Amino acid sequence: MEWKNRADVVIVGGGIVGITTAYYLARFGRRDVVVLEKNTVCSGSTGRCGAGIRAQWGTEMNCRLGIAALDIFENLEDELGMPIGLNQGGYLLIAYSEREFDNLRKGIELQRGLGIMSRTVTLAEAREICPALDASDAVGFTYHARDGHADPFLTSFAYLEAAKKLGVSYHRKTECTGITVKGDAVTGVDTTKGHIDADVVINCSGAYSQIVAKLAGIDLPNWGERHEIMITEPVEPGVCPPMLMSFSGNYYIQQRPHGSIICGMSPSGHPQDFSNGTTWQFITEMSRVLNKLLPVTKEIRVVRHWAGLYDMTPDGSPIIGETDIKKFYHSTGYSGHGFMLAPIAGKVLAQQLTQVTPDIDLRVLDYRRFARGELIMEPNIT
Ligand SMILES: Cc1cc2nc3c(=O)[nH]c(=O)nc-3n(C[C@H](O)[C@H](O)[C@H](O)COP(=O)(O)OP(=O)(O)OC[C@H]3O[C@@H](n4cnc5c(N)ncnc54)[C@H](O)[C@@H]3O)c2cc1C
Repeated sequence: MEWKNRADVVIVGGGIVGITTAYYLARFGRRDVVVLEKNTVCSGSTGRCGAGIRAQWGTEMNCRLGIAALDIFENLEDELGMPIGLNQGGYLLIAYSEREFDNLRKGIELQRGLGIMSRTVTLAEAREICPALDASDAVGFTYHARDGHADPFLTSFAYLEAAKKLGVSYHRKTECTGITVKGDAVTGVDTTKGHIDADVVINCSGAYSQIVAKLAGIDLPNWGERHEIMITEPVEPGVCPPMLMSFSGNYYIQQRPHGSIICGMSPSGHPQDFSNGTTWQFITEMSRVLNKLLPVTKEIRVVRHWAGLYDMTPDGSPIIGETDIKKFYHSTGYSGHGFMLAPIAGKVLAQQLTQVTPDIDLRVLDYRRFARGELIMEPNIT
């Protein structure tokens, strides 16, 4: 890839958020967009995620982002001309107390007001949607049929190839080591391959975003949190088409089209942890939950188990927008939902930077909300 010492926009971080942002910037007319990735494509959280996509959220902002992202995902293969592995088996949310079910029902009111056709379902209906389900201890269920998952590798590569065709440069093995500022505005970046002058710099470095922000003297409240996940050998395809998810039960479980079951749960206490190590405790606890909900999995083997980082914020909502340093933007803090939100987040940030009217007003996601104490607490997360 040809190295240029000047760029219109430099994006730090080449995961799904950086790649989608680059694609839409180029599509809306920004030239010389450069993405810097210290490792390789999908080496960060994107290549380690569950890749679920949903619109069943508990805050208005996430509902708006979630349904707009679904609209994009549903037309993405046509737009990018490559497969993304989209599979819409729905999300079945499971409540284990009346209080939790009330919260899910409140979420449905909000969602339906925003055009998201989620609904409550009975245990019998839940078993029609997920034939292998054993959830007689659950109090209630909600379901949205358009939710699902896509392949994070296919999606990233589809966006990246389309971005490259529009002139985007993607530099692998290129770390951003400094952000240069003159007066109150950003002027460029230092990298392991040399300096680049830039009009705009965007921090899309996921769980490392706090470190990258600090290169320009900006303090972000983000932290990296290690999450484990595993996949089993295949069982009969079609026994669990939806993503099963419970916030109090602390799990997400979904069958891939070829039969394997992918599942994860969150560590307790939101620890700060940059390692990608795995533990026996996770396999033991996760298997117990999996076997109980889907007894068909009782005698099967785990084929792979790995970990990745959530880029956490104090309210579980992302940080999108300009900082106190002019032309230095952030698109970070996506917690456990950055894969699904990346298409719409990338699109809207690119619209802001190209004077196109944004599809959604993202001003509430400004990072100064933490100092003001105006947190956007998302209830629908584990
Ligand atoms: C186990 C697990 C399950 C998940 N499940 C889901 C799910 O079901 N649905 C969903 O939507 N999301 C899910 N997520 C969250 C999702 O993976 C992330 O929110 C999303 O991938 C964030 O994308 P990103 O581009 O911000 O981060 P990343 O993919 O981590 O990309 C950031 C990149 O920045 C690079 N970088 C860092 N510092 C520098 C630097 N100084 N210079 C150059 N490059 C740098 C890193 O190498 C990295 O590749 C899950 C995450 C995990 C860990």
